[in-house]
Amino acid sequence: MLTNAPRGTNDILPDKVGAWNYVEGKIRSLCARYGYEEIRTPMFEHTELFHRGIGEGTDVVDKEMYTFTDRGGRSITLRPENTASAVRAYLQNKLYGDVSLVKLFYIGSMFRYDRPQAGRMREFHQFGIEALGEENPAVDAEVILVAMDFLRSLGLKDLSLSLNSVGCPKCRPVYRKVLQDFFRDKLDELCDDCKDRFERSPLRILDCKADADKPFMPDAPKITDCLCDECRDHFEKVQAYLREAGVSFTLDPRLVRGLDYYTKTAFEIKYAPLGAQSAVAGGGRYDGLIEEIGGKPTPAVGFATGLERVLLALEKQDLLPKAEKASDVFVVALGEAAQAPAFRLLEACRRAGLKANMDYAGRSMKAQMKQANKAQARFALILGEEEVKESCAQLKDMAKSEQQKVPFDKMIEKLKELLGKQ
Ligand SMILES: [Zn+2]
Ligand SMILES: [Zn+2]
Repeated sequence: MLTNAPRGTNDILPDKVGAWNYVEGKIRSLCARYGYEEIRTPMFEHTELFHRGIGEGTDVVDKEMYTFTDRGGRSITLRPENTASAVRAYLQNKLYGDVSLVKLFYIGSMFRYDRPQAGRMREFHQFGIEALGEENPAVDAEVILVAMDFLRSLGLKDLSLSLNSVGCPKCRPVYRKVLQDFFRDKLDELCDDCKDRFERSPLRILDCKADADKPFMPDAPKITDCLCDECRDHFEKVQAYLREAGVSFTLDPRLVRGLDYYTKTAFEIKYAPLGAQSAVAGGGRYDGLIEEIGGKPTPAVGFATGLERVLLALEKQDLLPKAEKASDVFVVALGEAAQAPAFRLLEACRRAGLKANMDYAGRSMKAQMKQANKAQARFALILGEEEVKESCAQLKDMAKSEQQKVPFDKMIEKLKELLGKQ
């Protein structure tokens, strides 16, 4: 159907766009406070970037990407997330040349072919940050604080922060083996996806939704028991910094994240009132990604949050500010002769910085006054034949229902005076 948008996409209509602008405004002031600078990367990249940067064997790469061959025969993919693109831009533009820690944020559309449901669309919007170039656990804590501060600054309470460490290339193979030993005789009881994951990425069995309630799951070995000294030390320091900042958290050994490039810190923030879709932000450290994409080994940490879900939460809790619709002036022109001077007056109001509008349809006085009310105008300027002959207009205070005759050349001055906009 030509007049229907594709499934999983959404029009953001004028009555909703204010909510988006409100949230994006919060993001910009938040990121300014924490010293993160905005980056805007292309909506599409070479498919290879996501194969390398997200990893084959993940649901995103195997099942959810919008991939096509362009007219030049290249394989192109609409970005399913922004981290790989941000890292690509960081390398391509040598952002690492200036300072050791580069802090970036992004807001934009991402694309995944997924089953659409509340708060999850095929074209969806994410806000995220990336801190590139520093291994200090204080940066992990800072990234988590930005995520918490973002959600709190919107008025969301009862947020729960879960924390884990997913180890590093030194200690994760040990854990993989321990985990495979644990699941080997339970393979028959796992879902088909997990039978697949058993060899490729056994950690991901832990965050499988289908198998989450299997009776043996709580007994699965914890990665935190297998961490090497470096990872353990890092994990403890992240927790210490969070305590320092007064942020409470729970340790969740089953929080492993879907993507393979994560190392050490992994975290997730949940907002319980959203029910099944309660995860509102997630992130962690990905020290392996930049090298994977072709750069020098570079530590990095970041998070992303789905804005549809955040807006859903704000709507549910009635935390969105009321739309500001009120205008200053509505010009009412009666009869043909009044049209041109009314148009001139309208333009003069706008040039003077006033919010002004008029009805172009030449409707009745009553219909136009109704529109002035709908526009929540403070004043109406009414021009009939009489007024035009005298080069003046009736200036009507809509609240007080008082009106006075004011000459055209004094009108702007008078309006500014009444509106307190001198
Ligand atoms: Zn380790
Ligand atoms: Zn499973």
